[in-house]
Amino acid sequence: MKLPYINNTNPLYFQSFKIWKDVTREQWDDYKWQMKNTITTGEILQQVIPISEKEKESINSTLAKYKFAMTPYWASLIDPHNPECPFLLQAVPTPDELKVSTGEFEDPLAEEVDSPVPGLTHRYPDRVLILITTICSLYCRFCTRRRVILDKEGHLERGQMERILGYIGSHPEIRDVILSGGDAVVTGSILETWLKGLRRIPHVEIIRVASKIPCVMPMRITEELVSVLKKYTPIYFMTHFNHPYEITPEAKRACDLLVESGIPIMNQAVLLRKINSDVLIMKRLMQELLKIRVKPYYIYQCDLSEGISHFRTPVQKGIEIIEALRGHTSGLAVPEFVIDVPGGGGKVPVMPSYLISQSDKKVILRNYEGLIASYPQPEETNCDCSTAGEVAKETFQDHTGLTELFLKNNVSLEPHEVKDRTK
Ligand code: SF4
Repeated sequence: MKLPYINNTNPLYFQSFKIWKDVTREQWDDYKWQMKNTITTGEILQQVIPISEKEKESINSTLAKYKFAMTPYWASLIDPHNPECPFLLQAVPTPDELKVSTGEFEDPLAEEVDSPVPGLTHRYPDRVLILITTICSLYCRFCTRRRVILDKEGHLERGQMERILGYIGSHPEIRDVILSGGDAVVTGSILETWLKGLRRIPHVEIIRVASKIPCVMPMRITEELVSVLKKYTPIYFMTHFNHPYEITPEAKRACDLLVESGIPIMNQAVLLRKINSDVLIMKRLMQELLKIRVKPYYIYQCDLSEGISHFRTPVQKGIEIIEALRGHTSGLAVPEFVIDVPGGGGKVPVMPSYLISQSDKKVILRNYEGLIASYPQPEETNCDCSTAGEVAKETFQDHTGLTELFLKNNVSLEPHEVKDRTK
């Protein structure tokens, strides 16, 4: 996919910006150069795209509360003639961010409530999230964790790392660890220290590295970085493309390097008003991702973080997008649309309904075209497997939520508040 306003065939296209007229391709492709020349003020941005004095002032006034950073690579992709360019809206601060709307929270996902050790969230039974840094190479204006990411700076200290590894080591049920932040990859050699520490814990089966680097500074994905990651497989790379225009030749090269080293990449897009809140944009995004061997994993409904209501879409927009994907394009291109429910309830999948009705004889289904068909139920309904007992001995048993009702003798599931009232 080509950006309509960039000559993708010109390898020196960035030299058309006055500020980078003397930059060589070698410098441009060097992530250290990109980091050193990161744009952090309205004044520098003004040298890249035409913004008015008023816009510059409003960017700078937002900076009094929240951080701003954008790599030259990302800035070079902004369409200077489109005030609603997806690269612009995702990265450039506006005064809207300073408005706190009703129903917004500082910590909408209550990550700090489910944090037995600072820096670690343990919400789901067998996996944990570690916020190893508050640094990113680009600060997304819609960031869920803006309370920590956009107003604090730094990596977790060594003492915290030891406490977190100690917690994981003493919880044998934890088999999946997500290293996030911030951007896990910007931590450099610290990332390897985390990976090494986690791999010493026998019950940690998989590690996920969450990073927006392939979209915002793809030159950071180097042979050297990939050779580090490879040592600690199985590792899944969780990335964050939001618009098909982000899939540039540079982004493709970064993803090729990861995939060809045996590191699968999954994409977690966020549904953002006026950026990707459109069926055709999302369909194209998912198809382009598959072409670079990135599996579309989630589309998130925008969270209820303070100051980002201008990015939120009605929930039915996400349902409409899934309706337009399922059946209309490869199943591989269909992610799950989820709402991370406020208050720490976790991710809830939301989708169109394909099951119309059911009896013990048949279920009635509809397909993507609207065809309504019946599927007969089998006569034999006993589904017990002879190997289940053996497998269960080696598997962590999670009997919470509805699983508790299926597998135990409980007759009801009561929220804690109801239990408290009946005491
Ligand atoms: S890369 Fe992730 S953590 Fe960093 S600002 Fe964007 S959404 Fe937030």
